[in-house]
Amino acid sequence: MVSPADNWMRVSHGDPCPVCGKPDNCSVSNDRKVVWCGRVSDGALRVNAGGQYLHRLDDDPYDRNPPPPVRIRPSTRSTSPTQDWPALVDRFANGAEEHRQRLAGELGVSATALAALGVGWNVERFCWTFPEQDASGQIIGIATRRRDGSKIRMKGGHTGLTYAADWDAGAGPILLVEGGSDTAALLTIGLSTLGRPSNCGGVDHLVGMLSGVDHNREIIVIGERDEKPDGKWPGRDGAVRTAKRLAEELEQPIAWALPPDNAKDARGWLNVMPKLPADRLADLFVSGLETTVISPPIVIRPPKPTGPAVAVDDWRDQMLQVRLHSLGCPGVYIDASTTGAGKSHVDLAVILWALRRRNAV
Ligand SMILES: [Zn+2]
Repeated sequence: MVSPADNWMRVSHGDPCPVCGKPDNCSVSNDRKVVWCGRVSDGALRVNAGGQYLHRLDDDPYDRNPPPPVRIRPSTRSTSPTQDWPALVDRFANGAEEHRQRLAGELGVSATALAALGVGWNVERFCWTFPEQDASGQIIGIATRRRDGSKIRMKGGHTGLTYAADWDAGAGPILLVEGGSDTAALLTIGLSTLGRPSNCGGVDHLVGMLSGVDHNREIIVIGERDEKPDGKWPGRDGAVRTAKRLAEELEQPIAWALPPDNAKDARGWLNVMPKLPADRLADLFVSGLETTVISPPIVIRPPKPTGPAVAVDDWRDQMLQVRLHSLGCPGVYIDASTTGAGKSHVDLAVILWALRRRNAV
């Protein structure tokens, strides 16, 4: 006979309550499907005599990559795309200081950086929430991070960028990293950072944000050292592709680089650095980057037209008259007519006119 107590684990500092984030007063089932939480009543299935609230943990309303197998059980969940994302972000972020502190500790970043990114905690789904914004600052979706580090995106949203309101403050380079935790890492040391949703995603949003930035400011796409045994290297190739597309779209040089000191990513780098002042760490990060600059393709633009529009036939008539007038007046004449205006056509007409006139004399 198994005692019911054997099916439950008390929460601890190392394994805090997934509902309230605290290290005491709550228990998690061994299969991690349900929690008796001593604090949070929101979304609970029921309450016991001890004042604890029962929460179910196995709900999975998120998009996964790769997609989950098709469920037989019909879902009653709303898949409405008209989710009020800003309201949701506010709800998750309000009162989530404790949860941000916990995530800050796990990631080795500052809780202030997480707060600046609008990170919250979803009490019902037991995951941290990272709002994603478009170039205008509109929240268009939410990326989430579970306690096991798995990342999924809430259904119905769009992928956007992770960034703080003052993301372009300062004068240093603008660094485009991959994901919310890397964004938090560079924000922790005060660098201007935009978080890309994946190794090559979010370029349209980036173009929108970066087109207003001073052209002299360096923009560096930061890749990841995630090379696979088969030679594939998505974090590097995605960074190169992103830099190329940005160079084309913004028509300015864009650099890419892998994180300094052989680190996997920006957060991995920060985690192994000694405790130094933030500005010193920022200097070390930027000076440690071996950047490769991608130049924009050369774009040849026809000169902008000046003066009123003239029909080609009229233009040719005018050219002919000017040429004929020039015949008796030696000098330098510049014809700025564009390709296709009929310069050689008119030249031929002038020569024929001159020949006819000579023959007639
Ligand atoms: Zn709890």
